[in-house]
Amino acid sequence: MRFNGLFGKIMAKLKYGIIGYPVKHSLSPAMQNAAFKACDIDAGYELFDVAPENLDKFLDDIAKSWNNISGLNVTIPHKIKTKEYLERNGKLDEVARRLGAVNTIKIEPDGSLRGFNTDGPGFYRSLQEDLRFEPEGKKVFVLGAGGAARAVIMYLGNGPEKIFVADIDKEKTTELKNHYGKYYDEKKLVIVGGEIKEALADCALLINATPIGMKEADPSPIDKNLLRSGTRIYDLVYNRPVTQLVREANSMKLHAVTGIGMLLYQGAIAFEIWTGKKAPVGVMKKALKDALK
Ligand code: NAP
Repeated sequence: MRFNGLFGKIMAKLKYGIIGYPVKHSLSPAMQNAAFKACDIDAGYELFDVAPENLDKFLDDIAKSWNNISGLNVTIPHKIKTKEYLERNGKLDEVARRLGAVNTIKIEPDGSLRGFNTDGPGFYRSLQEDLRFEPEGKKVFVLGAGGAARAVIMYLGNGPEKIFVADIDKEKTTELKNHYGKYYDEKKLVIVGGEIKEALADCALLINATPIGMKEADPSPIDKNLLRSGTRIYDLVYNRPVTQLVREANSMKLHAVTGIGMLLYQGAIAFEIWTGKKAPVGVMKKALKDALK
């Protein structure tokens, strides 16, 4: 408890957290708790392991100010269901609506919930800060068509000249194209069904949006011989300091990064939504790197 001297009101410690299933490996507590401390905000960030069948009840309880939680991150497998819940019971930011998923919730003092998506903007900011890449008017290749690919592609929108997508699950690429076509020029999104060599050779940016690279023994998801000089590489995998894809790209002197920057900036933008304060990005980055060690 904290005493607010100005009005003599007793202020409870603010609570934030992340809901997922399972959620125990999340790096967000390290990053967000470091940010609260650096900004002198009396708050704690916790893990909430919520099974899919309990999600609605958990969010109902939050809306009734259960445990005084002020803000949440949302991770696998709850991002789409949370967006659907907030369509019925709360408010949705325009980006979350367009991306079709929620990864951040702000709980207002009256208990109303507002959903945001900071994955897309976080990726975009990392693309600019870490890879020094402007996607406008360029050709982009995305390997994988799951949740992360959708956030990235829907945020890139009509910006690139073309976005090529390949996934071993053809249904996912079709779903993604249908969703993209609701908001953007569907001719810009090209599904690559078979050989990826030709499309990839033409692209200025390759994004790995598959989970290949998360395990130490994972190979690169792309044959090294298909990488061209000048192509930038963004590997969304963030749980390792380096992946085989990034290692091989670096050995060819290509500019390549892992997804730690996307994780950092999605967290920084969430922090800013919750607190209205500028996120201490340097402190958050150090906390993430330390947690990864
Ligand atoms: P997901 O929903 O499982 O989607 C991945 C897709 O890639 C699946 O459709 C999968 O097909 C497909 N795939 C697997 N191997 C492939 C291959 N060799 N070629 C083409 N497609 C392949 O996963 P996600 O949630 O989108 O996550 C993808 C990656 O992004 C993970 O590494 C995750 O950690 C990362 N991520 C990073 C951030 C960040 O902040 N940096 C945020 C979110 C996610 P099957 O399902 O048939 O295997």
